[in-house]
Amino acid sequence: MNQIDTIARTPGADFDAVVVGAGFGGLYAVHKLRDELGLKVQAYDAAGDVGGTWYWNRYPGALSDTESFCYRYSFDKEGLAKATWKNRYLTQPEIIAYLGDFADRYDLRRSYRFDTRMTSAVFDEATGLWKVATDKGDTVTAKYLITGLGLLSAINKPPFKGVDRFKGQIHHTAAWPEGVDLRGKRVGVIGTGSTGVQVIIALAPIVGHLTVFQRSAQYVVPIGNWPEDEAKINEYKANYDAIWDQIKGSAVAFGFGESTVPAMSVPPGERERVFEQAWNKGGGFRFMFETFGDIATDRAANDAIADFIKRKIAQIVKDPETARRLTPTDLYAKRPLCGDNYYDVYNRNNVTLVDVREDPIAEFTETGIRLQSGQQHELDVVVMATGFDAVDGNYTRIDIRGRGGIPMKDKWKDGPKGYLGMMEADFPNLFMILGPNGPFTNLPPSIETQVEWFSDAIAMAEQKGLRTIEPSQQAADEWVRTCQTIADMTLFPQAQSWIFGANIPGKKNAVMFYLAGLGAYRSAIGAVRDSGYSTMIFDRETETA
Ligand code: FAD
Ligand code: NAP
Repeated sequence: MNQIDTIARTPGADFDAVVVGAGFGGLYAVHKLRDELGLKVQAYDAAGDVGGTWYWNRYPGALSDTESFCYRYSFDKEGLAKATWKNRYLTQPEIIAYLGDFADRYDLRRSYRFDTRMTSAVFDEATGLWKVATDKGDTVTAKYLITGLGLLSAINKPPFKGVDRFKGQIHHTAAWPEGVDLRGKRVGVIGTGSTGVQVIIALAPIVGHLTVFQRSAQYVVPIGNWPEDEAKINEYKANYDAIWDQIKGSAVAFGFGESTVPAMSVPPGERERVFEQAWNKGGGFRFMFETFGDIATDRAANDAIADFIKRKIAQIVKDPETARRLTPTDLYAKRPLCGDNYYDVYNRNNVTLVDVREDPIAEFTETGIRLQSGQQHELDVVVMATGFDAVDGNYTRIDIRGRGGIPMKDKWKDGPKGYLGMMEADFPNLFMILGPNGPFTNLPPSIETQVEWFSDAIAMAEQKGLRTIEPSQQAADEWVRTCQTIADMTLFPQAQSWIFGANIPGKKNAVMFYLAGLGAYRSAIGAVRDSGYSTMIFDRETETA
């Protein structure tokens, strides 16, 4: 299967393609381009090995919230046949082992240089090649640049005053070192997003004292992480073709059928029964999309489900003041969160909830964190679960330049834009995996969809002997307008979260996803391919030519 790729097809280039990233996206891209298209590929990752997200996020409690049966590649029949897992969701070690095994079976590591960060990528109009430089001093040229940089991988570390003064340890969850032992320690966690929720649940029973610094109260439903036995796993295996067909035609691609029933079309008692059933079953995306069809689009439906969760908080949390602080006041319209017994954590004697919206963090001191009121929390360790500069963060942090030397940063000064979530006008032969304006789903099926789509485009370009392929500015603008129109039909823009860039101070709020679902996305990008890539410019003349 694996040829030894020594000669580039592209005249004058070191490689046909450079792939950056060794997560789900980059690994599949290397396999596709190298093994199926026969291109000469050089790949890089700043990490020490494969895994992407799961290489970096080794914090206690790290778990998928996509169910185990569908957080994997659909095309890899051998991998599916031998797959096994313990529970309904996958732990970080299980996912890293899965991706490691995938890399072994497809002999992918030999194409990578690990511990190597791409620092710049500049398109040279004269040669039609990308010139890629790394922090290890490599400079290589390639016709195609494939970026699988991750949409949740550029770390957000808020610049808290006095962090350097703190004598204890500070760890960001997405740069978690090996061997951190938090047992018996006084630990502070800043952040209550998906990561914070997982780490808080995992740490509360083992640390001496846990102080949670919460800025936004969150809607958290149970995840339902029960064991799955061999019989259940075999059932998935026997049905994989139908399962993937369903997933690829669905909206959020989480392996269940989304409801089409409007919440207000049923009597209140029936709504309550549906919410209660979903609460007991677990799963954030199920809660938002399997209960009723309009939770994310209709204000009354959203209020009803939010009210249900608020009542759960009031029932579970014993101290009324803590319950008040934990109760969200905004819409239920962020990326859904889940975790078993999250609110119960706050009934423990060793857990303190601090509301940093009411009393913000003023500074780190030598021994802990001081709030604006002057209240001091003594800590041995601070866990920053403060998230990511999502989607475009890894693009704007490095120097990527397209035609005429235009920096990606400038091109995206009003917010990141990606044609079909993969390309950008003026950036020829660049294919982004999970780039801006791509689908908002369980991600492996969307990643596969994109890698397969641009592999077809590259195969076409190679067959036709094209030098460059890029979207027209008009097509790119139209796609962004489509994404905006779809987003405006939902309630998501009304909540402040990373989905629109609202979590990073100074970042322009922008629509960063195509929110119509994977099925619709596949049709849209399939139509572009079937039209003979009619929205693309082939071999665009340079301005000086
Ligand atoms: P990543 O896995 O993020 O890999 C990107 C790689 O690119 C990284 O290894 C990084 O080191 C490398 N890189 C970036 N910039 C450079 C550079 N300049 N030079 C060299 N290398 C670079 N999604 C789901 O669908 N379901 C889940 O349950 C789920 N759980 C998640 C849990 C956590 C804790 C997080 C953070 C995310 C989760 N996600 C989940 C989203 C997850 O990121 C995707 O599912 C998927 O792993 C993305 O794969 P990727 O290959 O696109 O990117
Ligand atoms: P996040 O959702 O952006 O949450 C970051 C948290 O840090 C928020 O609570 C935020 O508060 C807080 N924060 C940020 N800056 C702060 C500051 N200066 N002071 C105080 N608090 C601050 O990031 P995340 O939790 O890492 O999750 C990101 C995404 O990764 C998820 O939405 C999901 O897609 C994925 N993920 C999935 C799982 C899973 O369940 N499998 C687990 C982890 C991550 P505000 O809300 O007020 O901004």
